[in-house]
Amino acid sequence: MSIKTKLLVAAAVTLFCVFAFGIWSENHQSRLGSVLSQVLANNVEAMNAATELKRGFIYHDDLILRYMLTGDERLLDSGGRSKKLARRYIADIKRRSLSPRIREMMDELLGESRSYFEEMSAMTGFYQQYRFPEGGQIETIAVWGKQFPQHKKYLTALTSSGQERLERIYEICDTLIDINRYELERARQDVESMLDEGRTAAGWAALLTFALAALVAVLSGYSILSPLEVLLRGVERVVQGDLNFEMPVTSADEIGRLTQAFNTMTRSLKEKQHRLVQETITDGLTGLYNFRYFQEVIAREMERARRYDRPLSVLIVDIDHFKHFNDNLGHEMGNVALTMAAKILKESLRPEDTLSRYGGEEFVVLLPDTSKKAAQAVAHRLRSAIESAQFPGGERQPLGRVTVSIGGATYPGDSQSSQGLIRSADKGLYQAKETGRNRFAWAF
Ligand code: GH3
Ligand code: MG
Ligand code: MG
Repeated sequence: MSIKTKLLVAAAVTLFCVFAFGIWSENHQSRLGSVLSQVLANNVEAMNAATELKRGFIYHDDLILRYMLTGDERLLDSGGRSKKLARRYIADIKRRSLSPRIREMMDELLGESRSYFEEMSAMTGFYQQYRFPEGGQIETIAVWGKQFPQHKKYLTALTSSGQERLERIYEICDTLIDINRYELERARQDVESMLDEGRTAAGWAALLTFALAALVAVLSGYSILSPLEVLLRGVERVVQGDLNFEMPVTSADEIGRLTQAFNTMTRSLKEKQHRLVQETITDGLTGLYNFRYFQEVIAREMERARRYDRPLSVLIVDIDHFKHFNDNLGHEMGNVALTMAAKILKESLRPEDTLSRYGGEEFVVLLPDTSKKAAQAVAHRLRSAIESAQFPGGERQPLGRVTVSIGGATYPGDSQSSQGLIRSADKGLYQAKETGRNRFAWAF
């Protein structure tokens, strides 16, 4: 998975959490809203209706009393309206209420109020017929009413049983108000607990979203950072000059590709460095080591010979009459002959011997762990290998073929130092030249 994809997934997960919480929150709000509106619609209105109902009865009772005191017939019309209103309120409350208790109470209230209104209308009818005594005190009317035992029931409304009925009606209204108040309170508590639930859930959702986002961030960060750290350690090793390692490619993402590119770069750097090292120690024409490198090797080998008390020999090989060869056959052919001679010499030596170009048409050979006698044998082998080789144009040389003269020196007899050893071999070469060429000589 690429880093871009990882980051996109992390963003998507976080967005999803926020979105899911948003939807839940929206849902919760609307549930809360519907509970609230239901509570308002049912309980508040039922409470109002119950209050109005009680007020209606009080008002009606008041009208009847006033009518009995004043005899004003218009008050009876208002009483009729109160009666209709009361019926409507009762029906309304019963329709709205879901509670069986309230419905039962409404039935009782309907019965009581019907009886009440019937009694009232019977009583007002009786009043219109007989007229109560002036002064209108309940007791006076009750005493007066005793002369009409056949109409006793019409006066019930004014007596204590009538009052009791009205009291019962008031009581039902009050209970109704209380029940609705109680239900309102309960609904308020429901809403409160839903709000609490919402707050808690919001807290958890926020915490969860944060934790999830943090987890995704840490995981994607880790999956990006740890390979980057590995890469960084590799870069540090390269900076310190260590090119001998390959970094593990653990993913196919951008970092994996970067690691691969880094490995390719390290490999090519290593190859280039190797080539550069080879070039600095190699002679361009013959492919042999150059003299600079030879000096390093002889210093090392001299150290070793000293430490282990072993002999070390040096041979300097010089092509005879090479100026003549060049003059006759041209510089190019001279180069060919030089390369050929280098090859022949190389093939005549052991792998542990070091052959390098000394300069011009001269070569120098280092023979580790080689005594004077053994070195002489090597020198003769080299000389005869060149002598017997068929160099193109060799027959035109003063000696009839391409030949070499070789001077030799051996540690510790000839010199104690590497430079002294080379100088001594050079003297040997001079001897070989002086005594006729195509031969080997030690320094005198
Ligand atoms: P001697 O037998 O005394 O060694 O005679 P010589 O001619 O070999 O020695 P001299 O030092 O007089 O000449 C060396 C010649 O080697 C001169 C030079 O042109 C030639 N030479 C040196 N380096 C190269 C090279 O890289 N290529 C070619 N073609 N010739 C070279
Ligand atoms: Mg020379
Ligand atoms: Mg020469």
